[in-house]
Amino acid sequence: MTTACCPGSFDPVTNGHLDVIERSCRLFDEVIVAVLENPSKRPLFTIEERMDMLREATSHLEPVKVSSFQGLVVEFCRQIGADAIVKGLRAVTDFDYEMQMAQMNARMGTETMFLAANPEYTYLSSSLMRDVVSLGGPIDGLVPDFVLKRLTAKLGK
Ligand code: ADP
Repeated sequence: MTTACCPGSFDPVTNGHLDVIERSCRLFDEVIVAVLENPSKRPLFTIEERMDMLREATSHLEPVKVSSFQGLVVEFCRQIGADAIVKGLRAVTDFDYEMQMAQMNARMGTETMFLAANPEYTYLSSSLMRDVVSLGGPIDGLVPDFVLKRLTAKLGK
């Protein structure tokens, strides 16, 4: 039984995240999507809201379980028995930071696997989605429809 951990803020989940989660399901028996609870950040959506949206968006994916964690991702991986962290790499801008994290996490005992982002979604980030909606722009096709509704309810004009 192989287990992947896909960590992130998911504030909110985008089609780019979902692409990485779906592809992880083809590689691992179990995929734990782990929402980071970071007390030093002020997210738009609460941890419960972010987990609810992820559960709804992944309900068709049998291997997926949605969870949350605080602190070191390697510690969480140890608790759930994850074999690897799986992350999406969008562009060179992600590379430096992700490389540093992956090397540190390998030193602490958990390997990271990178999936090259789907070119359709390379430019997507949760923060860009929040910014565009708050300025009244269209993001349909970039997040699930129910996520767009929730974003518009929080931020929309
Ligand atoms: P962001 O707020 O930048 O979307 P998250 O912390 O929620 O970032 O992202 C969690 C993981 O999902 C990271 O590994 C990130 O590289 C990956 N990811 C985010 N957006 C995309 C995308 N559009 N395509 C592929 N992977 C992505």
